[in-house]
Amino acid sequence: MKNFIYTQIMLVALTSFFNNIESGQEINLALLENKKNILPVAVIGSGPAGLNAAIYTARSAFYTVVFQGKSPGGQLTTTSYVENWPGIKKTLGFDIMEENREQAINSGVIISTESIVKVDFSVWPRKIYTEDGEEILAAAVILATGANSILLGVPGEREFFGLGVTVCALCDAPFFRDKKVVVVGGGDSAVEDASLLEPYVSELTMLVRGPKMRAVPSMQNRITNSKKINVLYNTKITEILGANKTVTGVKLENTKDKTEYIMTTDGVFLAIGHMPNSSMFKEYLELTPDGYIKLNKRTQETGLPGITAAGDVSDHMYKQAGIAAGDGGKAGIDIVHFLQNLGLNQENAKKLEPNYYKPE
Ligand code: NDP
Repeated sequence: MKNFIYTQIMLVALTSFFNNIESGQEINLALLENKKNILPVAVIGSGPAGLNAAIYTARSAFYTVVFQGKSPGGQLTTTSYVENWPGIKKTLGFDIMEENREQAINSGVIISTESIVKVDFSVWPRKIYTEDGEEILAAAVILATGANSILLGVPGEREFFGLGVTVCALCDAPFFRDKKVVVVGGGDSAVEDASLLEPYVSELTMLVRGPKMRAVPSMQNRITNSKKINVLYNTKITEILGANKTVTGVKLENTKDKTEYIMTTDGVFLAIGHMPNSSMFKEYLELTPDGYIKLNKRTQETGLPGITAAGDVSDHMYKQAGIAAGDGGKAGIDIVHFLQNLGLNQENAKKLEPNYYKPE
């Protein structure tokens, strides 16, 4: 029995030793000595996931820099009113992210306007690179690069985005009460959006570019008996029309006989897929077949120590800002535990502070 227990203890010790070695490099606080510009925590992305992760690490006294990237505030800044952010009845997505940013700064988070364009996770400290080619070392990295809804790329789409063109039925359905809308796409998301919208709208047309839907039959069953929903196959949008900052219609093309016509509509719901912004990490982390970062059970841990992910880059299911914020909190706490287990604390972190990265 004694031998069995001894073997188990050795196994645990060896597992934890090997878990702390990546590509032959040991993860050890001593490796941070005599190195310049080492961030305890670097956060890539400044949507709700990134900012809330940063709030947790900064409030635990770990110097934290958020690299905000090309879309400060993330997808929420491009939506209109939000009614499902906890604690606020109704407000603009942009305002939520402004407040979230100020909250992060108040918590001690440093926000850099730079974008991270390359990473090297084969070494520790981890290496991340700005657009200008600056190399930054980080003991821990939180990935919150989000996802982008795929857009049609037709005229009028950008002009009327948030003014009738939307990618979030769950967020925007109540704004289309008794209105006429179209849903673009024939996958599970499009059907889900259509069934979500049905109780609100007066009339809904699904526009499917091919001869059939991609959605699984059980999803399609949700809408087959609907009196409000009509499906047009072999139909694509070639232009979104509008006036006075409101969508008024769509120009459609029948892809079989090439006929074109105009349909009046108050809203255009796009549901043609999402693209997680994960390509930078694919060399180092396990991704799902559709590109989302895989996480370890109910944590936000990726397969590599000291690297967590949060929000839409690791969430193929929920894709909601409030959920991204919650993920961010978890990702931050996971990193705090990682750094504390490493032996980095408020005291020794302070000694390194003069060498830390200081954004302009
Ligand atoms: P999908 O990739 O499954 O479907 C995208 C749809 O958009 C297809 O009908 C596609 O047409 C169409 N499309 C793509 N590009 C264009 C374009 N430029 N113009 C017009 N139509 C276009 O994406 P989803 O977001 O629907 O689903 C993603 C994943 O999430 C799937 O695995 C799905 O099963 C899952 N999911 C599951 C849900 C659930 O179980 N409750 C709910 C929502 C999603 P085409 O078929 O011709 O390529």
